[in-house]
Amino acid sequence: MPRTRLVWHLFAGWCGLVVALLGGFFWLSSVQLARLADDAGQQRLVDAALGLARTATTADGGIDVAAFEDRAREAGPTAGVTFELFTADGRPHAAADTEPAATGDPRLVAEAAGGRIASGSRYDAARGRRVLTVAVPYAVAGRTAAIVQATAETAAVDAGLAAAQRTLLLRSLGIAALAAAAGYLLAHRAAQPVHELCTAAARLAGGAVDVPIPATDLAELADLSAALDVLRGQLVESGITIGRQDTQQEAVLGSMIEGVLAIDARQRIVGINRAAAELLGLDLEKSLRRPLQDAVRNPDLRRFALRAIDCREPVEDDLVLHGLRDRTIRLRGTALRDVSGEGGAVIVLNDVTEMKRLERIRRDFVANVSHELKTPVASIKGFVETLLDGAALDAADNQRFLEIIARQADRLAAIIEDLLALSRIEQSEEAGNLPLEAVPIASVFAVVAADCGLRVRERAIQIDTSCPDDLVAEVNAPLLEQAVINLVDNAIKYTDTGRTIWLSAAAETADEGREELVIRVRDEGCGIEAEHLPRLFERFYRVDKARSRKQGGTGLGLSIVKHIVQAHGGAVAVDSTPGMGSTFTIRLPLASRATPKKLEV
Ligand code: ADP
Repeated sequence: MPRTRLVWHLFAGWCGLVVALLGGFFWLSSVQLARLADDAGQQRLVDAALGLARTATTADGGIDVAAFEDRAREAGPTAGVTFELFTADGRPHAAADTEPAATGDPRLVAEAAGGRIASGSRYDAARGRRVLTVAVPYAVAGRTAAIVQATAETAAVDAGLAAAQRTLLLRSLGIAALAAAAGYLLAHRAAQPVHELCTAAARLAGGAVDVPIPATDLAELADLSAALDVLRGQLVESGITIGRQDTQQEAVLGSMIEGVLAIDARQRIVGINRAAAELLGLDLEKSLRRPLQDAVRNPDLRRFALRAIDCREPVEDDLVLHGLRDRTIRLRGTALRDVSGEGGAVIVLNDVTEMKRLERIRRDFVANVSHELKTPVASIKGFVETLLDGAALDAADNQRFLEIIARQADRLAAIIEDLLALSRIEQSEEAGNLPLEAVPIASVFAVVAADCGLRVRERAIQIDTSCPDDLVAEVNAPLLEQAVINLVDNAIKYTDTGRTIWLSAAAETADEGREELVIRVRDEGCGIEAEHLPRLFERFYRVDKARSRKQGGTGLGLSIVKHIVQAHGGAVAVDSTPGMGSTFTIRLPLASRATPKKLEV
């Protein structure tokens, strides 16, 4: 519906009123003027008729018709009046020789015969003019002597009347124009405070709470103004509260590790925290109001969002996001219903990639331990049963089987010892209470050389050691010795006879400017394929299982190295080229006391 401004509404009403009043006034005035003009014309004709009749009255109270007609001929044309004479009972007195003859109106004449002055006007179509006629009873000594009819054209009177009406109309229009102008000013004045209040209310609704609410003298508008002022106060109050809640909510959501994503019924993103934006690779600001499927091109996420919106119960699923590194995100979705019935959902995202990896490693570990223990136990059991079945009586078999059983028992012991060592290291790693002391690294290397001496000589391998004498670090000497022995042992195992192993230690400055103790064990052995490197430090992970077992390896050596290094707050890395050799590098913090890193399995 088209809306009219208040000023025009008031103005239109005012104009309507003015037009109605002035129109009515003009009409009434015109009618009154016409009536006055007719009355005046009639009176003139009555006077003329009586005057003429009087001049033609005879001494005996009769009418001298010839005299009447003479006078009528004389006076009539001058006055523009036609006189006709009738007897007292309404018959023509004598044939009038004026043209047109006997134009008398019988109705008027009959009425005059009753003793009353009769008058009427009619339109003379032949002449195209209006004519006024009066029939006057002429009484002499109380007796009607004759009836005189006087007829005159009203053209002059009508012209005067029309002129008067024109003047009246023009003046009425002038008054109407003045009244309209005054009406507009009044309407404007009346509408102005309403307009000002509307403007203030609109700005208030737009959020401009500092806008002044205009005061007014009009009682109703003053109430409205006061109500708006109260409303403004409440808006400010609730704005402050909402702002505070927003800030708190933003702080809570922003500091959450879990990603939080809110979507509406049409799957548009209506809220997202930093963690969710990072997990999904989105821009925090730009993603707001965007459809989810546009922002994240992942059909699984879209399906999950639809389920979350539709389901009454919270839903849960895992989502794999493919990228440089595949990540597993655990999604928990809860449907939302606001007061208006609009739907939506809140989805909480958790990066469980690491958890999944740890779960897998734990699972693998249990399977691996069982497998590693099962083989020697089965072997021991088998040979013991064989011995019990009678092989014990054969001296040669007896000796051979007992040697095998002893080897398998050694293997079991080695695995269990390594597992226990790992467990101990992990405990100190977790507790962060690894006892450290300032130890010259050269003394650590001396212990390593002594421990590996026999195996080195058996394989005719050279060990080239380089370590500054004054290089001292805060370490747990027995554990560091164990780590370096494991690395050198591996280098011996996986290097061909007659080759060289390089063992070095140095203080180096890391990228962040920290001083580090760097120990390197380099060999010219078989090397390791790149695909194995990421999992090399996992428990029981072996590149070549058969070769490892043959060499007496438990598959736990590198894992022990990793945990020892981590317990020192350092890191171990490997660099290897198949067929060329491998370099294992241990980096430990030098300057300050070691702060063990977060536990990694
Ligand atoms: P293992 O007891 O089998 O040696 P480790 O944990 O010490 O177990 O080593 C894991 C695997 O890493 C080994 O089985 C071997 O395949 C590989 N490896 C370790 N050190 C070397 C090396 N210096 N050269 C080649 N391969 C190596």
